[in-house]
Amino acid sequence: MHSALWKHVAPYFRPDSPVDRWGDPSKMDAELILGLYELRAYVGKPLYVLCGWELRGPESASQHPLGRAVDVYSPELHWFDLFLAASRFDVFNGLGVYTWWRGHDGVVHGGVHLDTRPGNRMAPDALWCSPSRGTYEPIGHLRAALAAGGRA
Ligand SMILES: [Zn+2]
Repeated sequence: MHSALWKHVAPYFRPDSPVDRWGDPSKMDAELILGLYELRAYVGKPLYVLCGWELRGPESASQHPLGRAVDVYSPELHWFDLFLAASRFDVFNGLGVYTWWRGHDGVVHGGVHLDTRPGNRMAPDALWCSPSRGTYEPIGHLRAALAAGGRA
């Protein structure tokens, strides 16, 4: 990723952050980082990166090995509010809510997985909730309801 882009997002995110776990910040998708920057500006609360670029198994469909996914949480924002805020940003084609994630402080804050996968963001498998480790529930119908202004 271009140093100019990191410079742009530097008020909130730095590749050499001692806290954020980018994995390899140079492999992160620019569109994703810009979207994350805009989300951070929108919520007005700190967002911390639990996982950026990361190798996964060959069977994995994860966007993390492509640098197109980031897992974030805020100690000052409930995961549901973070989910609602992230839903407003079209750049995040994939959006997962994880209610059980622990922050760097060891406290359960929950958080969201955001990714810039290609394709239709309305795809049913592009929006999910994980209420516990290893458990995933599709909640794609919520996205359609949100797009309709909250009326299902
Ligand atoms: Zn993730």
